[in-house]
Amino acid sequence: MENIQKSFDVIVVGAGTGGTTAARFIAKKGLEVCLIDRKPRDRIGDKICGDAVGNEIFGLLNINHPKSEELSCHIKGIKLYSPNLKKCLTLIDPKQAGYIVNRLEFGQRLLNEAIDVGIKQFLDKTMALDLIYNNGTVNGLKVKLENGEKSELKAKLVIDASGFYSPIRKTIKSSLIEKNISKEDSLLCYREIIKFSPKDQEVQDPEYISIILDQEKAPGGYIWYFPKNESSVNIGLGAFMAYKGKVKDFYQRNVFQEYIKASKFETISSGGGVVPVRRPLWSCADNGIMFVGDSACQVNPLHGGGIDPSMRAGYYAANSAVSAIEKEDYSINMLWDYNHSVMTSFGAEFAALDLLRIVLQHLSNDDINFGLERDLLSGEEILEISSKGGLNLSLVNMAIKAFKGISRPNLLLDLNYLRIKMNEIYRLYKTFPENIAKFPEWKEDVIGIYDKIKRMIVNTKKSK
Ligand SMILES: Cc1cc2nc3c(=O)[nH]c(=O)nc-3n(C[C@H](O)[C@H](O)[C@H](O)COP(=O)(O)OP(=O)(O)OC[C@H]3O[C@@H](n4cnc5c(N)ncnc54)[C@H](O)[C@@H]3O)c2cc1C
Repeated sequence: MENIQKSFDVIVVGAGTGGTTAARFIAKKGLEVCLIDRKPRDRIGDKICGDAVGNEIFGLLNINHPKSEELSCHIKGIKLYSPNLKKCLTLIDPKQAGYIVNRLEFGQRLLNEAIDVGIKQFLDKTMALDLIYNNGTVNGLKVKLENGEKSELKAKLVIDASGFYSPIRKTIKSSLIEKNISKEDSLLCYREIIKFSPKDQEVQDPEYISIILDQEKAPGGYIWYFPKNESSVNIGLGAFMAYKGKVKDFYQRNVFQEYIKASKFETISSGGGVVPVRRPLWSCADNGIMFVGDSACQVNPLHGGGIDPSMRAGYYAANSAVSAIEKEDYSINMLWDYNHSVMTSFGAEFAALDLLRIVLQHLSNDDINFGLERDLLSGEEILEISSKGGLNLSLVNMAIKAFKGISRPNLLLDLNYLRIKMNEIYRLYKTFPENIAKFPEWKEDVIGIYDKIKRMIVNTKKSK
């Protein structure tokens, strides 16, 4: 492959939702972008996923909403079930309504649109191997090309959007970037897309995605039942990584057998995957490089949705890349504004939701049934938390809750302490330092909040 171009303004690794968005918005500014992916071009977008995406991102980026063959169905909102299924909260928020997409067609559209905007070179079946540095700054990438040849590609900047298992994050020479993501901060998922005859079985609540919290059937995660059309559903579950080897059995027993009653069905797709469920990496950039999407842990910790944030981050990274190239400065000081954009926007929500996720994962089914049945958290409050990462309860509301939760004072106290810490961390992220010099101090404050929440969980366990 002698005829490939080898030097660019930016190399983007991974043509998923994050990478195609970053590449597209950089190319739009007339810069030379090389996008690479290890998959063949016609499999780009083919990812094991719940396929749900809210509509907000398309307006925000001013790109086409899913339609025709890439659209499975429209979604009005979420139905959230307690473990004993006695309580169902219906969460409807026009901003969070959205789509179930056909992932392959959706991914192909994002790729084709990025190529049409003017990506200089797209290399499929090309594997990123390692970074190249010049004086401690990333300035290129070693790759294995389609024909098996190894090659070096040079660039002013590299954007890594190669997903959860990013080989680049794992091997980067950096004191800012975490190489490994802890097992407690990831969920192992398994899902199938099942098609049946509408005569045999009706799709339950076809305008809603349904989520069932159950610490026994899906420990640490949840069961999902998402409609695709009148005769197929995307169903699955996520659980702690410690259940490796058991998640498919959980699926068979707790999801498939419970929700598929049709005598005849077809399994259209099946498979597992890992999703990070924590706040974004401490820093999503270093000299000459930015990380986008799953590779930077930019996934909503509460529900595992990562399509929207990966696209947002792709857009922010593109803007920072364009400014850095204009100023010919590829240092972390220059790229810090990418961190600033991430942390002060969805990063703030995700940090607050991360605290909620950690506490929820330690509650028992009894606690969750009690909390949801007694309306300790109402539908509106859950929407407020999931859209703003915080909750501003009035004194009257707090008193009502105290009364309702009187038989479980510890649970109520814990939830109140959690609410205070969520608001605290949200404010901290909203005031993320504009300058890297103040970062260590800020990081200490964030660690302090996490420590307090972890201590609360330990004390609660001791008192039981
Ligand atoms: C089971 C499951 C269900 C989910 N459900 C939902 C949902 O309903 N809604 C939602 O919003 N999110 C969901 N998510 C999360 C969502 O899929 C991801 O957050 C999102 O796809 C992130 O996109 P990305 O661009 O960061 O990475 P990816 O989409 O993973 O793309 C990474 C790309 O990099 C390529 N690549 C990897 N390594 C290399 C390499 N070495 N060299 C070259 N290329 C490489 C891959 O081939 C791939 O194309 C789910 C995840 C899982 C696992």
